[in-house]
Amino acid sequence: MSNVDQKVVLVTGGTGLVGSAIRRVVNEEKKQNETFVFLSSKDCDLTNKEKTLECFNKHKPTHVIHLAALVGGLFKNLRQNLDFFRINSQINDNVLAVAHETGVKKVVSCLSTCIFPDKTTYPIDETMIHNGPPHNSNFGYSYAKRMIDVLNKGYSDQHGVKNTAVIPTNVFGPNDNYNIEDGHVLPGLIHKVYLAKKNNTPLTIWGSGKPLRQFIYSYDLAKLFLWVLREYDEVDPIILSVDEKDEMSIKDAAEAIIEAMDFKGEVIFDTTKSDGQFKKTASNAKLRKYLPGFEFTPFKQAVKESCDWFVENFESARK
Ligand code: NAP
Ligand code: GDP
Repeated sequence: MSNVDQKVVLVTGGTGLVGSAIRRVVNEEKKQNETFVFLSSKDCDLTNKEKTLECFNKHKPTHVIHLAALVGGLFKNLRQNLDFFRINSQINDNVLAVAHETGVKKVVSCLSTCIFPDKTTYPIDETMIHNGPPHNSNFGYSYAKRMIDVLNKGYSDQHGVKNTAVIPTNVFGPNDNYNIEDGHVLPGLIHKVYLAKKNNTPLTIWGSGKPLRQFIYSYDLAKLFLWVLREYDEVDPIILSVDEKDEMSIKDAAEAIIEAMDFKGEVIFDTTKSDGQFKKTASNAKLRKYLPGFEFTPFKQAVKESCDWFVENFESARK
């Protein structure tokens, strides 16, 4: 194997939900020609450009998977829209600028289906990112994420760099943020069911339970992320989602958790809490064109594995 083929892949946000899933997949694959470095915020504060440059000079990546971000569920976004915009804009600009300055060949960044226009036709596809304002609940996160697409186009047009981005739907799995106030719906509900079972209290689901979501298991996303890094050659982003038929209501998702954790208590819907965006149904037609045979982990199996992980790792889990 010549040195020319050797990839050094820096994974920003390497300690989070998605980063830890990529680490597991990479460890299972054991590819000889790729070295991965998984960064946490303690290794480098990416809001600081000098520190970002120091970090890139230290690891000398040829490729970057850029995951680091201020991330949160609906309720953290509602409280901190300004922080989401400013912090994520800083991180993204620093990472993409320093990657360019240090000669990185390809950066794969991470958008989200929640950044699409609120008023739209369905299913959403990759061409619609900038077609109108995002949902008001997460405008800060959304506009910051949309600017990654602007940066990718800019670096491509002006410098011929072929960076790209993926657009996952709601992600869940081991090492998620299981904090009830700040986290996403599935880890929040897993934590709530755990407590309701332990304390013999009702489970409170926030909102009406009617909004619809497509959920992707972190290990499926990790495999697709690595395919994008290695094989996908477009600058335009690609939606990484389960099929449209697999979209489900929050109520149905909660029922999968209730079943997986064998919770028998009362279930309450707190309709004083926000429902957020009603739906953001995304098309995976582009993904299916490239990878028609990709098999997603069945939702119930992935939920069961996530619940079991949380129970087994309760003391150390992020919560
Ligand atoms: P996560 O579990 O909250 O992990 C965030 C990661 O970013 C952690 O490794 C964290 O480091 C790092 N980080 C945060 N601030 C940083 C800073 N200032 N400097 C350096 N590193 C920093 O997030 P995730 O759910 O894995 O999300 C990964 C990516 O997927 C994000 O870009 C997110 O927007 C996107 N995404 C997530 C979802 C979802 O449902 N979770 C859906 C669509 C897209 P520490 O561990 O040190 O804190
Ligand atoms: P979103 O998909 O970006 O809106 O973010 P979330 O993953 O936080 O999902 C929010 C949806 O789940 C809204 O419809 C909430 O009303 C509903 N939901 C129900 N219970 C919970 C909970 O315990 N935590 C969170 N974050 N959302 C919940």
